[in-house]
Amino acid sequence: MNCELISVGTEILLGDILNTNARFLSKELAALGISLMYQTTVGDNEERLKAALDTAFTRADTVILTGGLGPTPDDLTKEVCADYFGKKLIMREDILEEIRSYFLSKGLTMPESNGKQAMVPEDSTVLPNKNGTAPGFIMQQNERKIIILPGPPREMEPMFTEQVVPYLRKFSQAVIKSHTVRTFGIGESAMSERVADLLENANPTVAPYAKDGEALLRITAKAESEEAADELISPLLEDIKARLGCCVYGIDAQSIEEATVSLMKERGVTVAFAESCTAGLCAKRITDISGASEVFHCGVVSYSNEIKSKILGVASEDLDRFGAVSDIVAAQMALGVKSLSGADYGVAVTGMAGPTSDDPEKEVGLIYIAVTDGESLYLKEFHGRKSGSCRDYNRFVAASNAINQLRLCIIKSPQLRSEGNIKEFINSYPRN
Ligand code: ATP
Ligand code: MG
Repeated sequence: MNCELISVGTEILLGDILNTNARFLSKELAALGISLMYQTTVGDNEERLKAALDTAFTRADTVILTGGLGPTPDDLTKEVCADYFGKKLIMREDILEEIRSYFLSKGLTMPESNGKQAMVPEDSTVLPNKNGTAPGFIMQQNERKIIILPGPPREMEPMFTEQVVPYLRKFSQAVIKSHTVRTFGIGESAMSERVADLLENANPTVAPYAKDGEALLRITAKAESEEAADELISPLLEDIKARLGCCVYGIDAQSIEEATVSLMKERGVTVAFAESCTAGLCAKRITDISGASEVFHCGVVSYSNEIKSKILGVASEDLDRFGAVSDIVAAQMALGVKSLSGADYGVAVTGMAGPTSDDPEKEVGLIYIAVTDGESLYLKEFHGRKSGSCRDYNRFVAASNAINQLRLCIIKSPQLRSEGNIKEFINSYPRN
């Protein structure tokens, strides 16, 4: 089976809505092992929709359409598709009754125009819509199939999963299964270099991509069954993990914070954050994870220098001399919040999120992160974006890096270099 997707709706072409139906269906079809070669978006226009069907059937045997099943005159998907296969639309009294009851159940009377939704292409299979009024349809003519689904995702998704998937399964001999290796602290190109030979693989395929400051590798296998796909993937997964070492924080895990919270729970350790430029983002992201109370003590948003000194005990002479964005201040913030909270780890972030810098000697994007277990100090200096709409990005990536540094510290990663004892580092910092 060769599938093609047509998303119908002028509002998608105008950018008023994001085409999430196409994303949902693409993923579902991939999981079913059905090839999807092309996706088209077309406005609510009869001629252009017809042309899109013509083109689709030159390269696919099955076309799935979403949208344009509503009661208004601009909804014409069903009409165009019926006509395309030379079929009439027939009024189905039983469906009309269902639509009426749907409105009644909401205490409403059915508007006359909704009667249009009880018109069914002859010889089609009707897909009842339990979340709305427009049913979907499957039409078949020789080898060619048209599947029509409503536009609203909350109607389309369950209809597809519950009614279309069992139908499509009959035509698919394969399943496609993917796993994503999530890494942090290694760029996409450096990661790709380490697995360069694997990128040539045919099945499973290995594909790198970057997202939100992270580098990811997607491994995809096509096989007869899920088990067979897993068998193809698992040796490759082990190989990749060995090559990328501590940079791998999870397989298919949702986020660096999720991976770190589970690691902390597993080890029974706790953390407190002292945040300047991220202003609570680390704390927010950690507490987004359910069960974070087991591992999270507190966060101090020490935005002003005064609070850095008063609450965290950062020496004001160091703030004056080296600036708030400096390794020595980050170290004192980390130690300060660790002592204040009694958590096992203190983590501090201070940096210039931008777009402007209030210190002529520090450029936008400069961030310092300090992590301490009370004994050793681990420092990281990194450079985010220097200009443009850098503020959100720099803050997000600063928080990700801080959480990752904490993770590396907990697993005692050889990748981390200790600055030695944190108190000695602070006391013997070159101040002349
Ligand atoms: P309705 O009965 O609501 O008119 P419909 O089947 O005619 O449904 P459309 O009119 O095309 O569908 O779209 C209705 C709404 O469904 C859109 O305003 C949008 O919110 C959502 N929608 C439609 N197509 C998509 C899509 N491809 N991705 C995400 N949402 C969509
Ligand atoms: Mg509509």
